[in-house]
Amino acid sequence: MKGKIIILSAPSGTGKSTVIHRLMENAALNLGFSISATSRKPRNGETDGKDYYFITEEEFTARIERGEFVEYEEVYAGTHYGTLKSEIERVCDSGRNLIMDIDVKGGVNVKKLYGDRALSIFLAPPGMEILEKRLRGRGTDDEHTIRRRLDKAGFEMSFAPEFDLTVVNDCLNKAVAEIERAITGFIARP
Ligand code: ADP
Ligand code: 5GP
Repeated sequence: MKGKIIILSAPSGTGKSTVIHRLMENAALNLGFSISATSRKPRNGETDGKDYYFITEEEFTARIERGEFVEYEEVYAGTHYGTLKSEIERVCDSGRNLIMDIDVKGGVNVKKLYGDRALSIFLAPPGMEILEKRLRGRGTDDEHTIRRRLDKAGFEMSFAPEFDLTVVNDCLNKAVAEIERAITGFIARP
């Protein structure tokens, strides 16, 4: 398998998707996005087969049983997210470096699995109040969902020391530049 693996994890609302969109515009990084499977419903503007493979809980369970996932987590009660083996093959076989938007536990597991072939980056919010503002400002989730995500954020923050690198997403341009530098150095290594 060719290509390296970049893991980006953070509490929901920190800015992972925003940062990944910016990184994908940098052709020198040669990134391919790992499209996860999830049993959550699509948000407005999300496309099946682009943002996620949207499947039912039943199908998710069947695919777990068939051993189709490299890793999966029940990130929120009743909602699964996972990385399909076929997805890693699709991106890595194309010669690109794979970038994953994945929860903190999944991020730690994938790093353990791939070792030096993977760079794990923890994106941290500048603070909990700002995180709440971003989640509300995004305007994609109802109050119950926002609360559930904020309640989990403190626990998720405790995983930061297990990552290769922590970057605070305060000023977006600065955070993107810092991550670009880290990825550039990492992919240049043999
Ligand atoms: P995640 O993928 O981590 O859940 P998003 O990328 O959806 O987070 O970002 C959540 C919200 O925060 C979005 O509305 C996004 O535009 C905004 N956002 C992301 N990064 C920043 C930043 N550095 N400063 C201000 N707002 C940001
Ligand atoms: P969202 O619903 O906001 O798109 O994602 C919720 C959480 O699920 C985020 O922390 C995101 O990184 C995580 N996630 C997305 N895809 C995967 C995956 O394939 N595996 C795991 N473990 N988590 C994922």
